[in-house]
Amino acid sequence: MSPAHTLYTADWVLPMVTPPLPQGAVLVRDGQIAWVGPAAHATAHMPADTPVHALGTVALMPGLVNAHSHLELTGLRGFLEGLDFREWLRTLTIVRRDLLSEDDLLDASRLGIAEALRHGITTLADCTDSALPLAAMRELGVRGIGYVEVFGPDPLQCDESMARLRQRVAVLRAADTSLVRTGVSPHAPYTVSATLFAATAAFARAEELPMAVHVGESAAESAFVVEGTGPFAVRLRERGIAVAPQALSPIALLEDTGVLAARPLLVHVIRADDRDFARIADHGATIVHCPISNAKLGHGIAPLDRMLAHGIATGLGSDSVASNDRMHLLDEARQATLFHAVRSGSPDSLSAHDALGLATHGGARALGLGDTIGTIEPGKAADLAAFALDGTDIQPVHDPAVALVHALAGRATALLVMVAGRVLVRDGQLQAASADWEARQRVTAARLGEWRQRRSQ
Ligand SMILES: [Zn+2]
Repeated sequence: MSPAHTLYTADWVLPMVTPPLPQGAVLVRDGQIAWVGPAAHATAHMPADTPVHALGTVALMPGLVNAHSHLELTGLRGFLEGLDFREWLRTLTIVRRDLLSEDDLLDASRLGIAEALRHGITTLADCTDSALPLAAMRELGVRGIGYVEVFGPDPLQCDESMARLRQRVAVLRAADTSLVRTGVSPHAPYTVSATLFAATAAFARAEELPMAVHVGESAAESAFVVEGTGPFAVRLRERGIAVAPQALSPIALLEDTGVLAARPLLVHVIRADDRDFARIADHGATIVHCPISNAKLGHGIAPLDRMLAHGIATGLGSDSVASNDRMHLLDEARQATLFHAVRSGSPDSLSAHDALGLATHGGARALGLGDTIGTIEPGKAADLAAFALDGTDIQPVHDPAVALVHALAGRATALLVMVAGRVLVRDGQLQAASADWEARQRVTAARLGEWRQRRSQ
């Protein structure tokens, strides 16, 4: 049996609620943080036989919160490169439906979680069609919410979509744990009718389910909602579905249908004005900012400054690797600061400390987990990540937050990662990795490549 107490010391500890601590220490007891402070003071706070892990030249910080992912799409990394958004979405939908088995989607989810953990991510907020990421999260010990997606642009489909959603959620929820919860996600305004939005919101509120919605992502979506025009309108009319202007904006549509009242996590929110942000703030809804995915799909730079000015709980998300190619939250933090500086013309308008805050307690609050995770404070869960700061491409370190966001972003592998005190990455090695997942994914990738070649002939 592992001892109840363990002390971790590090050259830097970043509690996130207070400035970085040089030569700091974190005492973990029964999966929770018992104490944090200068290493020199630790002995007064722990039993004499407490094991000590001296991590050395590292930054020890709260585990990163990836507030938007699609784990089941991990096998589509690089597969949809350069497609315009509607074609990107259409190809993705066909591939997921026709070419990927449940085993493929489960392996993809496992590989996505392995990537997350190696990069210090301890919590995932995952939107999923298959619901298999929920099983993978439970299997691998990470913390997360799996939002089960519901689709149905035709109001006539609403009852059928809701019946299926209720049935799936009942089954999935029975397997919820203290770490992994089931939620729901009406996908987006161009794939979900106003009727279905209203029904899903009522269901989420009645059942107290977490909810996530993609919204304010593209010009095509705004044209569809506000004017009933554009490529999504054309496609739905081709399918015989009536399309009309629906609301002043996609966010207004969510307010009108009762979705905002269910306090959802809003994904992207690139296209929104101050009236929209006031609507979001008034209802206590939250946002996940996905700077790299937004840029890669050519959708734009979200007005993060306005989200924060309105006091909206905001986190960072990678989105799927099909629109990012990496799942690396430090990379998202770096990109968020760079875009912010470009937009404002000021170099420190979003500091590295602020960006790390979004990647930790910002995401935690956006997911309603602010009391449990996101900072290193006594009483919170011991969800921690440690990144090495030695090496000539990182040193010298004058400020560990700047080193993490600007020098390590995109390339750092975490040395140590734990969730609720359970070590999942030790010495940079994932404890539960399996070579079988990768071998099977290579076979799947070859099949996808052949499919695309046949299609282009
Ligand atoms: Zn997404």
